[in-house]
Amino acid sequence: MVTNNNPYCQLDQLKFKTLCEILENHPRSYQCFIKKDTELIAWISRVVPQLSDPYYTLNTKIFWIINGLTDFPACEECQSPIKRNVAALKLGYKSRKGSCFCSHACAVSSSKTLSYRRATCIDKYGVDSFTKTEWFAEKFEQTSMDRYGVKNAGGSKQALEKQI
Ligand SMILES: [Zn+2]
Repeated sequence: MVTNNNPYCQLDQLKFKTLCEILENHPRSYQCFIKKDTELIAWISRVVPQLSDPYYTLNTKIFWIINGLTDFPACEECQSPIKRNVAALKLGYKSRKGSCFCSHACAVSSSKTLSYRRATCIDKYGVDSFTKTEWFAEKFEQTSMDRYGVKNAGGSKQALEKQI
């Protein structure tokens, strides 16, 4: 928690300190304690007007305040603002692997995800793609043999005829 440059701390040090203390002293039931403090809860809602929509959770507001966020974070892939709620106070907008994406589509197409997937494949199979494993090659040849009587279906008589 960086308090020096935190705009919310500069806005009202006392409220900010109260919030931090509640979070520290009641890691499980902090929401209960915050809601009991009517002045604090009013302050929280007031200082993050971008999150005034009832869709936004108290956790998202608290996350913005303690991390000094004044706008929605940008998606790592498409740079558009991530307008959803935080998953959990500790994780924030990050996934468990530490990335910030606006959507499933961006998460899937990201180069970071692709390189992560390749690294996992290398760890597990020693090659960067599952289709390069011996198991896959054997299975592929076997299926081709069964179906077309040749090791590589692309070279079968049927496939050649289809191409013409
Ligand atoms: Zn995106």
